Amino acid sequence: MPYRAMYIWIDGTEPTPMLRSKTNVIKDGEEPGIWGFDGSSTAQAPGHDSDVVLRPVKTVPDPIRGGDDILVLCECLTTDMEPHPTNTRAACVAAEEKYADFESWFGMEQEYTFIMMEDTSAYQIKGRPPGFPADGYPAPQGPYYCSVGANRAFGRPVADAHSQACIDAGLDIEGTNAEVMAGQWEYQIGPLPPVEVSDQLVIARWMMDRIAEDYGIEVTLHPKPMLGDWNGAGCHTNFSTKQMREGEDAYDAIIAACEALGANAAEHIANYGVDIEMRLTGAHETQRYDQFNYAVRDRGASIRIPWQVERDGKGYIEDRRPNSNCDPYTVTRLIVETVCGAASA
Ligand code: ADP
Ligand code: MN
Ligand code: MN
Ligand code: MN
Repeated sequence: MPYRAMYIWIDGTEPTPMLRSKTNVIKDGEEPGIWGFDGSSTAQAPGHDSDVVLRPVKTVPDPIRGGDDILVLCECLTTDMEPHPTNTRAACVAAEEKYADFESWFGMEQEYTFIMMEDTSAYQIKGRPPGFPADGYPAPQGPYYCSVGANRAFGRPVADAHSQACIDAGLDIEGTNAEVMAGQWEYQIGPLPPVEVSDQLVIARWMMDRIAEDYGIEVTLHPKPMLGDWNGAGCHTNFSTKQMREGEDAYDAIIAACEALGANAAEHIANYGVDIEMRLTGAHETQRYDQFNYAVRDRGASIRIPWQVERDGKGYIEDRRPNSNCDPYTVTRLIVETVCGAASA
């Protein structure tokens, strides 16, 4: 029987790219191969020279369609088979290869916010996150983080369907939780090498968008979906090298990583997602975008060293700055280049 391959790619939408996908029906016994699309419809090419090439880079079972159907994550190439300008994965692959000896691992905490497409109840209002009534606001932040209960946890059926889909697709999902803002949730992917964590995160983001479709819910990765006294949405990026994980000098390597990130803070902030200034205000468990610090246990720091890492003298650090809407290939590439580059110098 022929089966369906959902080809998934990152488009060229400014300022924050979106995911696109289309179905290729594959003949029995054949594998998904090179394909292409009309880049003039995805902000990736002009109309007179519109062809963009899709090259499969990772295939997983499609838990939404089921059966023999698959999801095929692709990178975009020009017709010369060179990385397309919107292809940030190629540079991540190069950085991972250059610094392979460091055995970098990443765990990414993807926060996201549901937005209702229709009014379905007094607290599920079109254009607002579930939990936000038409007029005014829900009770102030406090009860929503890791919550249970109809007046506190909003959107759980989607979050649960998504975590099961990630497991069924074979992704390294570690957990999920309701977040500090009502209608906001998180899942974590990792720890994995830079390209693999990024590939899995893109597939997980696609599945979240796709599953939420069936509930009439939009998923936004906007870093500050509700202005005012509401937490923004980030993508905390946990990072370690072999040097940081093992050995007598591991804690020195951890401090050196923090120092290197501090020395290159502006470049990281500029590439950690659009509208980062809206989120990194110094309030709501963030450090300001124009300041840098690292500290043990501190959720108001740019970089947090978890308490057990200080105790054990080894482990990983949490870069709290990346936005929910960040490009994981760019974030992981920059961290590898900055930290491993400094350690090699
Ligand atoms: P919190 O919400 O307290 O910041 P989470 O439990 O959501 O923490 O996320 C912790 C993250 O740390 C996970 O994504 C996990 O993969 C990651 N992690 C754990 N150990 C390592 C490691 N050695 N290197 C990189 N990431 C790690
Ligand atoms: Mn978390
Ligand atoms: Mn979180
Ligand atoms: Mn975190």
